[in-house]
Amino acid sequence: MKNGDKINCPHCGEKSFVKEKKEFDDSFSLKASTFFCALCGRKLENTPSSPKVKNSSAADRLSALLGGEKVQKVSFEKTADDGHFCLHCVHYLKHPFMTRCTITLKEIEATDSCEKFECKDE
Ligand SMILES: [Zn+2]
Repeated sequence: MKNGDKINCPHCGEKSFVKEKKEFDDSFSLKASTFFCALCGRKLENTPSSPKVKNSSAADRLSALLGGEKVQKVSFEKTADDGHFCLHCVHYLKHPFMTRCTITLKEIEATDSCEKFECKDE
């Protein structure tokens, strides 16, 4: 399982894709990867990565070289090619207790993304 993999989510039952959250330790080596459904944001079972999964993007590898923190920060920045985070979507409904998507009415996180993304005017 890796970021962007197409799945049938066992939680919401939708055709969704995998969102990966990486954790790094103090020496910036990858400590753990957690996978979430891009639509409902629920955690997915982590299957061990097969050895042939080496096509992490060049940007990922560069970030890892520069330090893991960068990867975390990038998640919240809006960039031309990777800005489809719920945080920047018109359907992102922030609430003190539960942040929701106004399309699915499901709980989401700012760093989630989905196919119905519509960029919010700044
Ligand atoms: Zn789901």
